[in-house]
Amino acid sequence: MHINHFAIPSDHPRARSLYIREMLVDGFRRGLVVPEGLIAHGRGEAYDYLLGERTTETAQRAIKAAAAMLLLSSRPVISVNGNTAALCTNTVVELAKVAGASIEVNIFYRTEKREMAIKAELELHGAKRVLGVGSKASARIPELQSERRRVDPDGIYAADTVLVPLEDGDRTEALIRMNKTVITIDLNPLSRTSRAANITIVDNVVRAMPALVEAARKLRGTMSLKKITDNYDNSKNLQESLKIIKGEA
Ligand code: ATP
Ligand code: MG
Repeated sequence: MHINHFAIPSDHPRARSLYIREMLVDGFRRGLVVPEGLIAHGRGEAYDYLLGERTTETAQRAIKAAAAMLLLSSRPVISVNGNTAALCTNTVVELAKVAGASIEVNIFYRTEKREMAIKAELELHGAKRVLGVGSKASARIPELQSERRRVDPDGIYAADTVLVPLEDGDRTEALIRMNKTVITIDLNPLSRTSRAANITIVDNVVRAMPALVEAARKLRGTMSLKKITDNYDNSKNLQESLKIIKGEA
């Protein structure tokens, strides 16, 4: 990473937020992130600001349910786009190991060069097998027009559960129609993605991913997984996040 740490004084009140921006800009320069990804991050930042830039108790409940769901699944897949690759490749690889999940590159603005850059970044952080790159992304999600419809027949296409951090609404809805269980991480509790997913973690991926690894580690091998997922109510959880944003909780 080529981040100029000295440009951000550590006592700056927005230091953490500015540092995350620098990670994205660095990801952009390295060909992982597209300009549109930088803008999408801005929308996320605004919600993060309103949520207090922390993992709320509400988010923590969704994280626990998500970890349990991943552990219960027989073919879980983690879908990685440019922003996710720039922000949390190391925790994606860790989570894949802890939860026994596959990793698939899936990007909206698909070019072979960017796919390869994201794959290389994942491998640099220890990923052994990266799905969805080049001609391997040969299956199609029905009805979807964007290049994100191209999926790996061994990955998302055959998955029972898909973790899609920072997903677009169209694709989330399409995955649900394909009977996948969808877990997402999205700072906006109002987005179509948030509302369509089975489990929505309203938190920044930078915080949610390590917390998810931690939760999966703790829950692995325990008996209560099904009870945790059965008791989880996503629409109630989203309502709680909205209340926090409105200052009512
Ligand atoms: P949808 O398509 O689901 O209705 P949208 O079109 O409003 O949502 P997109 O541009 O598809 O949004 O995706 C960007 C979304 O990703 C933002 O709304 C934001 O909430 C979320 N996001 C951006 N950066 C982060 C981040 N670092 N952590 C978590 N969520 C983020
Ligand atoms: Mg969208």
